[in-house]
Amino acid sequence: MKTSYNVDENGFYGEFGGAFIPEMLYPNVEELRQQYLSITAEASFQDEFHSLLKEYVGRPTPLYFAKRLSEEFKTKIYLKREDLCHTGAHKINNTIGQILLAKRLGKNRIIAETGAGQHGVATATVCALMGLQCIVYMGEIDIERQAPNVARMKMLGAEVRPATSGSKTLKDATNEAIRDWINNPLDTFYIIGSVVGPHPYPDMVARFQSVISEEIQKQLLEHENTENPDYVIACVGGGSNAAGAFYHFLDNESVNLIAVEAAGKGVDSGESAATSILGKIGVIHGSKTLLMQTQDGQITEPYSISAGLDYPGVGPMHSHLFKTKRAEFIAITDDDAMKAGIALAKTEGIIPAIESAHALAVLHQKIFKPEDVVVINLSGRGDKDLNTYINYFNL
Ligand SMILES: *Cc1c(COP(=O)(O)O)cnc(C)c1O
Repeated sequence: MKTSYNVDENGFYGEFGGAFIPEMLYPNVEELRQQYLSITAEASFQDEFHSLLKEYVGRPTPLYFAKRLSEEFKTKIYLKREDLCHTGAHKINNTIGQILLAKRLGKNRIIAETGAGQHGVATATVCALMGLQCIVYMGEIDIERQAPNVARMKMLGAEVRPATSGSKTLKDATNEAIRDWINNPLDTFYIIGSVVGPHPYPDMVARFQSVISEEIQKQLLEHENTENPDYVIACVGGGSNAAGAFYHFLDNESVNLIAVEAAGKGVDSGESAATSILGKIGVIHGSKTLLMQTQDGQITEPYSISAGLDYPGVGPMHSHLFKTKRAEFIAITDDDAMKAGIALAKTEGIIPAIESAHALAVLHQKIFKPEDVVVINLSGRGDKDLNTYINYFNL
């Protein structure tokens, strides 16, 4: 039997995935599971989704042939410009999809959790767009670290609630959001920001983000007279931009998929977020997947210079892609990512998010053939990372 890289009817990707949730949460997740496929398949849903992606987000994003970069690396490099999306990254593709679903389920109160604040901003944005109440849970420490994004969320009308327990970071914010959802099962929709969480979230988010690979196919046909590149490269935090960039190529094994994780200060340094390489199977956010943990199963604090890759787990689809070797996983250090980021600015006039710079750094680690078509998903723009660039390079 051919291996499937998509979710099965029980919510699993191979041995990963599922919905490991407290019983109190079961009705909410079950409602979503029963309805997400039928609602999102409705013509009126598809029309509204695609019209907002076009008119509000600015899609399709260009598939840009990076001429100078290609000359430097002696191969054909295309950049999928998710950095040009409204709010500066791919995350809005997903929040648009989920808020339309929330509306159709009759929910008028939206909750979310956020680490670096990027998903909080993308959620607050679509709540403002739809006039819905928005509560974003965020660790107290993250609130201090990410002041500009907290200000953005407030400007957009969201309430930012601090999570004050535990390490006061993302996983604590997630716990608070889950507690809220249990207490408000009827009117509340929980917008999750990556291909993580209990089934059906990973599949639902992957489908919303799959617009990325759908566009890559159409655009490559124009540029190269083929729908299929030789390589697709994307960075992985939870895995949503990679899932979207890989989605329509999953079953075409002639397309090589490269998932790029953050090695932080080095895979063996104890300060990294190279989840697939260092992780063991466990349950996080209601999903069975690879995650970084201690001997006795306590989740390890991840580290990366890029806030968006600083996540202790990886979505179940990616665990499966890793296990089956369908995707190659490469870990890139802080230093290599920062160098690749500033190199893109100087070579192409594009300042990438540091997350995306991890994907670019693969160009230095792998040799591609001159005729290879290499698509790199540029998940976001670097404006939010300016201070990190300034401090790192003494600009
Ligand atoms: C959040 C973020 C990521 C990581 O999230 P994924 O779900 O793995 O895509 C990557 N790049 C940017 C620019 C981000 O904001």
